[in-house]
Amino acid sequence: MVERAAHPRYKTCGGGLIGTSLAAVAGRIEVPVHDRVDQVTFTRNGRRGFTRRHPAGPLVAMVRREEFDDRLRQAAVSAGAEVRERVAVRAIDQDPDGVRVRLADG
Ligand SMILES: Cc1cc2nc3c(=O)[nH]c(=O)nc-3n(C[C@H](O)[C@H](O)[C@H](O)COP(=O)(O)OP(=O)(O)OC[C@H]3O[C@@H](n4cnc5c(N)ncnc54)[C@H](O)[C@@H]3O)c2cc1C
Repeated sequence: MVERAAHPRYKTCGGGLIGTSLAAVAGRIEVPVHDRVDQVTFTRNGRRGFTRRHPAGPLVAMVRREEFDDRLRQAAVSAGAEVRERVAVRAIDQDPDGVRVRLADG
């Protein structure tokens, strides 16, 4: 895995994980949850509101991406991935034999 930043790195994101995202990482990392959203109320111009709850848990679990992504990086390393940080990809060329990644430092 190549990454131009170095983890833990900032990532612009709301940090709200829905159930699909939590299921994808279940058993792979311990998700660093800082807060939970149990219900959401939608309105139109402040009226005609309706509220949604998840029947079995939070609607959204809130994380900080720098922590969450760093846990994913650690899990990848534990699973055998080689992580090369501060490496920027400049181009990707594909031909019948495979894919060639060109890096910024040549
Ligand atoms: C304002 C905002 C709010 C969001 N809020 C939410 C939310 O609440 N919940 C939610 O589920 N999703 C949210 N998202 C979407 C979510 O952030 C993305 O779907 C998710 O991060 C995509 O994951 P990714 O791994 O594909 O890309 P990224 O998380 O963007 O990771 C890509 C990585 O590639 C690296 N990189 C980029 N270019 C290069 C290069 N040339 N060479 C090497 N490395 C490179 C970057 O440094 C980065 O670490 C939000 C997105 C934005 C913009």
